[in-house]
Amino acid sequence: MNPERSPLDAWLTRRMDLPVLSGPAVATWQMAELRRTLAWLRGASPFHAARLRDIDLEALRTQADLARLPRMEAGDLAAPGLLTVSQDAVARVVSLNTSGTSGPAKRLYFSDADLLRTLDFFAVGMSTLCGPGDAVLVLLPGRREWGVADLLVRALPKLGPADGARAVLPPENWTPEILPALLHAEAVTGLIAAPTQLRRLLSLPREAFQGRIRTLLASAEPLTDALRVEIEAAWGCEVFDHWGMTETGYGGGVECAAHAGYHLREADLLLEVADWASGAPLPEGRRGEILVTTLGGRALPLVRHRTGDAGVMLPGPCACGSPLRRLGPVAGRLRADGHGIEQPNKGWVAKP
Ligand SMILES: [Zn+2]
Repeated sequence: MNPERSPLDAWLTRRMDLPVLSGPAVATWQMAELRRTLAWLRGASPFHAARLRDIDLEALRTQADLARLPRMEAGDLAAPGLLTVSQDAVARVVSLNTSGTSGPAKRLYFSDADLLRTLDFFAVGMSTLCGPGDAVLVLLPGRREWGVADLLVRALPKLGPADGARAVLPPENWTPEILPALLHAEAVTGLIAAPTQLRRLLSLPREAFQGRIRTLLASAEPLTDALRVEIEAAWGCEVFDHWGMTETGYGGGVECAAHAGYHLREADLLLEVADWASGAPLPEGRRGEILVTTLGGRALPLVRHRTGDAGVMLPGPCACGSPLRRLGPVAGRLRADGHGIEQPNKGWVAKP
């Protein structure tokens, strides 16, 4: 049986208003959206306006043309004049975990509109693994307004045409021991948790999960193949992996039922894999540094932001039937010289 097609495809077709979804059609749409976004930034962000002064926006036609745009370094997140909205319009501020770096604190700012886009992506992304009537236990932190858990609580009811799914939150100071009774009482069918949390749950009696948890989303940290195999064997559920960073507004990409790379949030984010030294975009299949560009109006717009993470684009089509590229496993951070992997990728860390 073929794996079910990623629901992101129908969502992208609608968001981009494409007659036929294809890799080239998505790339063309993204470049047009990029030109619109950069033209807006010239008036909206003094930081970007200065950097775009000598760029001929109309010449930006293909992904190879992205090399004409300067990359943003991590330190640029603290640069003056970057924000496009007043502080009053900021709905959420997240301090980045920057242990080991110096300089001013790096913070990311999100408006209500930014967070509603993330919510929209969470709803379609979660429909990959659950549907109306499901009850999903959310163990990730971030319960205050617009935190990760809060976004999931809002998004899950929106993933179907009618009532959607339901989020279940454990008590604030939960310990693994209370979960079996909670899973039973709330008739939980799905789970969203970070790999470190999952490792702790493996010490519980497997009967609490077996035959009950159908699907699971691992998020916030890298998921190892070994942990995935161990959980699937112990609980008999299907494990889906997610990729995202605070810089992407949390959500970035999610596996489909083929489990072969992350289908991407292409309507909101233009992701590149680029040569570490030169910044030139690399072709699919070549490993390099992941660069993030946010498309559309954003409180804190990113243009070719250097994530420091090593990634590779998998060329389509996917076994699920999607013709679109996918991001392969994000192995870790690049060394300072751009070669090799320095440390396991920590992913994004949400402030509760
Ligand atoms: Zn797929």
